[in-house]
Amino acid sequence: MKLVIVGGVAGGASAAARARRLSESAEIVLFERGPDVSFANCGLPYYIGGEIAERSKLLVTKPVQLKGRYLLDVRTRSEVVAIDRAKRTVRVRALASGQEYDEPYDKLILAPGAAPLRPSIPGIDLPGIHTLRNLEDVDRIKESIDRGLTRAVIVGAGFIGLELAENLVRRGIETAVVELQDQVLPPLDREMTAPIAERLRAHGVDLRLGQTAEAFESRPDGPGLVVRLKSGDALPAELVLLGVGVRPENHLAVDAGLEVGPRGGIHVNDHMQTTDPNIYAVGDAAEVCDFITGDRTQVPLAGPANRQGRIAADHIFGRPSRFRGTQGTAIVRVFGLTAAITGESEKVLKRADRSHGKIYIHPAQHAGYYPGARPMTLKLLFDPESGKVLGAQGVGEDGVDKRIDVLAVAIQAGMTVFDLEEVELAYAPQFGSAKDPVNMAGFVASAVVRGDYPQMHVEDLPDFLHPQSGPAGFLLDVRTPEEFAAGSIPGAVNVPLDGLRAHLPELPASRPIAVTCAVGQRGYLATRLLRHAGFDARNLSGGYRTYQMHHVDPVTTG
Ligand code: FAD
Repeated sequence: MKLVIVGGVAGGASAAARARRLSESAEIVLFERGPDVSFANCGLPYYIGGEIAERSKLLVTKPVQLKGRYLLDVRTRSEVVAIDRAKRTVRVRALASGQEYDEPYDKLILAPGAAPLRPSIPGIDLPGIHTLRNLEDVDRIKESIDRGLTRAVIVGAGFIGLELAENLVRRGIETAVVELQDQVLPPLDREMTAPIAERLRAHGVDLRLGQTAEAFESRPDGPGLVVRLKSGDALPAELVLLGVGVRPENHLAVDAGLEVGPRGGIHVNDHMQTTDPNIYAVGDAAEVCDFITGDRTQVPLAGPANRQGRIAADHIFGRPSRFRGTQGTAIVRVFGLTAAITGESEKVLKRADRSHGKIYIHPAQHAGYYPGARPMTLKLLFDPESGKVLGAQGVGEDGVDKRIDVLAVAIQAGMTVFDLEEVELAYAPQFGSAKDPVNMAGFVASAVVRGDYPQMHVEDLPDFLHPQSGPAGFLLDVRTPEEFAAGSIPGAVNVPLDGLRAHLPELPASRPIAVTCAVGQRGYLATRLLRHAGFDARNLSGGYRTYQMHHVDPVTTG
């Protein structure tokens, strides 16, 4: 068996190492266009910022190790330029000499990744405008920073854009971030990103949401660039970093007549086989299934790329491994705050017109009585009939990673909100609570599905308070007077929970009541109490904190 692999980083290196573990006799040739294989793309922003101090740490496995330990024929600076499917050969260009030759294969794995987009904006090719994908890019960027620069503009507030922003600020560079959408981290729902926008601004990042870079120009009055925005503003910068997405490197596949999807991803089955059964495609270049909807999708993440590499190798060597689909589980740290997502977002469910329920909770990451408790926000999306978990997002200082990972496993296991009530998670006061945030999300969502917990959402408030027909709703805030005085939802009436029973006769029996509190917990108790007393009551999910997340305008204030 002769296995040829194109691309020597996440998917390709993973496939090669797995292939060797499965066969000692196979001939395995790994072609990589660049000078490095198996490097840590995900660590690149932290090398720019200096948190990863040594460049060598980014080289996870060096070619010599791949050769020695795995007996791989690693050929760097070797670009595969064509596939001849009939002859089962690839055409390879040795970049140092320019010479080309053919290399035969029995099985071929394409792991060429995805190239950063360079949108066709006037001035895009001016010096000082960079994308970040590999060590050569990082060397160029780092060199310009080390020469000394004061101002940078990042175009794109996705995961990589925000990681870069944090690291440039760490280097003392005044940083602006320009984002087309009216939120940072577009895969998440907008309200969940409000604390991240706020944190960026608190650290001095000039965040321009709902804006586009219309042109890049050389500065007439000195070195550097000017980034012209749609708003008419001009941002000076000595460095521009583009983080506006990636495009699958599919030209080998397209030229060879393999099927690709509408967004360019190479079409594969769940064994990662392309439309030619002797050719596999893995990683950012492949189009895979969404785990929940089953729709075709492309999610450029390292975890799926690594797993797909293993699966392709497994299948080639006779194992029936299958890729289950991607959930888009992703996480980022931004100036001490963590934001993470798994499964579907609310906006994706809405776009797909899929019925869904949602809840918000704001628990502490560990027992409130133990020093250092910090709140986080969890949003859980679920099927309103079966309770099946469809998605989750989290934002907070600490403990978000663990909850999103548990919920990612729950989604993959097909669990429901009723299962979340029962999951048994490690607890000591430093680590969690006897009722972990995951259990809490399960309790609240289960109560909603069972009908024990009538709730409404912040976006329903305007209609509730000012309906087209029927009686106007009554908004009851059951926090303490001090909390109420510090900020409340317009139109709310304050009756603290502890004295509520005594005030029941004063509440409007003929009007629907929505109860709110700080985070939803006291509101739930009040809702139960009011319903037992015969009122038509419901709780505002996530309380005032969720209201605030919806109502700070991230475009202007964060
Ligand atoms: P790649 O890792 O890009 O490897 C493809 C390789 O193929 C490249 O080295 C390329 O030179 C080579 N190649 C392409 N065409 C040819 C050819 N014709 N001949 C020979 N060689 C070729 N993901 C996460 O999950 N978490 C993170 O925190 C994260 N952070 C990231 C930060 C940065 C700055 C970047 C750039 C990416 C990050 N990612 C992260 C995404 C993750 O790195 C990718 O999803 C993953 O590397 C994809 O693996 P891949 O094997 O498909 O492609």
